[in-house]
Amino acid sequence: MGKITGFMEHERIEEGYKPVAERLKNYGEFVIGLTEEQAKTQASRCMDCGTPFCNSGCPVNNIIPDFNDLVYQGDWKNAIEVLHSTNNFPEFTGRICPAPCEAACVVNFNDDAVGIKSIEHAIIDRAWAEGWVTPRPAKVKTGKKVAVIGAGPAGLAAAQQLARVGHDVTLFEKNDRVGGLLRYGIPDFKMEKTHIDRRVKQLEAEGVTIRTSTLIGTWPKDSKVINWAKETISADQLKNDFDAVLMTGGSEQSRDLPVTGRDLGGIHFAMEFLPLQNKVNAGDKIKDQLRADGKHVIVIGGGDTGSDCVGTSTRHGAASVTQFEVMPEPPEKENKPMIWPYWPMKLRTSSSHEESAEKGLLHREFAVSTKAFIGEKGQVTGLKTVHVEFKDGKMVEVPGTEKEYKADLVLLAMGFVNPVASVLEAFGVDKDARGNVKASTDFIGGYATNVSKVFAAGDIRRGQSLVVWAIREGRQAARAVDEFLMGASDLPR
Ligand SMILES: Cc1cc2nc3c(=O)[nH]c(=O)nc-3n(C[C@H](O)[C@H](O)[C@H](O)COP(=O)(O)OP(=O)(O)OC[C@H]3O[C@@H](n4cnc5c(N)ncnc54)[C@H](O)[C@@H]3O)c2cc1C
Ligand code: SF4
Repeated sequence: MGKITGFMEHERIEEGYKPVAERLKNYGEFVIGLTEEQAKTQASRCMDCGTPFCNSGCPVNNIIPDFNDLVYQGDWKNAIEVLHSTNNFPEFTGRICPAPCEAACVVNFNDDAVGIKSIEHAIIDRAWAEGWVTPRPAKVKTGKKVAVIGAGPAGLAAAQQLARVGHDVTLFEKNDRVGGLLRYGIPDFKMEKTHIDRRVKQLEAEGVTIRTSTLIGTWPKDSKVINWAKETISADQLKNDFDAVLMTGGSEQSRDLPVTGRDLGGIHFAMEFLPLQNKVNAGDKIKDQLRADGKHVIVIGGGDTGSDCVGTSTRHGAASVTQFEVMPEPPEKENKPMIWPYWPMKLRTSSSHEESAEKGLLHREFAVSTKAFIGEKGQVTGLKTVHVEFKDGKMVEVPGTEKEYKADLVLLAMGFVNPVASVLEAFGVDKDARGNVKASTDFIGGYATNVSKVFAAGDIRRGQSLVVWAIREGRQAARAVDEFLMGASDLPR
């Protein structure tokens, strides 16, 4: 513990944002990280708790009190060693993690949590700037071949861990670039893609072979899930060619809203909208990009994906942006004694909400359900809604609250139901009740599917989740695969 009285002397310091007018001009990141001095002050607020709840609140179990202390002491080089010991990609989580560690922080019980995420952000940005992040190729090769299917955060973390213990890893990705939802879901203004590109170089230098535009298994013809593969390899061939296979293909099947009028033009999944803007930002030429310019946009779904649609529509120059959430509006502040150290349900106002509201575009509606889409000449012009409430655990309509909204573009951002089934079927892996790959996370036998030498991790196994959970699962599955191949593993769990 750097400074015993730090938490009593210093307030939490938030990272800054560039002004709205400036950040809406482009898709670049706008968060202004802490200065060295601010990070040190922030780190001094850490109490080095005997039971650090932050550590168990963090899905990768970052050793938070230790790196806080190192930052306070000015030992940034060891701080990144500690951070990298549990997290392969702190520059991803330092930018886009909702930070369950901060919800769990003991200071958060009756004060503002230590700004753990902002310290993580500062450590990794400094480490890259100083040239401390370098490839760590294995000294001894095992001669074992591992295929990792899907280059999202789970696949990237697993590939890195497996290559570092000497396996020959090939990472297959159906899309034209690596990163999964980090690349083609999360907008650049939340995380610029150069952070992924740097890691790709590191992985390649560590011996990982990356094959993009390559689909493994089979894909439904009518699927709206993005698939930019130019080549297909069958599941059987992959199983023959490799000693182990790890499925990290994510949970890409969007939840639909099959009400009257769903077939009208102008109603799209968020994942038909967001990836294209990221492609354009990357310099690709897109014919007929789905855009929100001058349109009355309705985003159905109040989560992260919906918020990303709000931010992107605002940058496009939408005429208005309305966001619907079916759940009632949560309280502004949580009841900490009831909830701490768990993740609180409270009203979350993202930077995208703030900027859209500042432009006078945003309207947020809670406890609202869409009953039908209405349209003219095959094109959506609006939708019919009703307010809902929960009675005895059931959602019921509130009589007399029917309303119509104008809409030129409707974006469905209601989450993802499961992975694309045909890929699972091609491998013959069992599914759980939700349609994800069935595999446990047990210490012994975890991440293994029912099919010999086939493993699964990340959203494809746990369902739609967070980047930090994907990294955790990728790391743990790498250990399971290593154990399977070698009989024992030194990789961390
Ligand atoms: C719009 C949006 C915003 C989000 N914002 C946040 C956020 O702010 N913070 C956060 O923590 N989480 C966020 N998430 C969730 C987070 O991105 C995911 O939980 C995480 O990326 C899951 O990682 P994954 O590696 O399991 O799968 P994914 O990231 O989905 O990656 C899977 C990859 O596998 C590839 N693939 C699938 N099948 C095949 C196949 N058969 N052959 C070859 N390749 C295949 C896919 O193309 C994809 O690239 C967001 C999600 C979305 C959609
Ligand atoms: S819970 Fe908060 S105060 Fe305690 S060790 Fe973790 S970061 Fe520091």
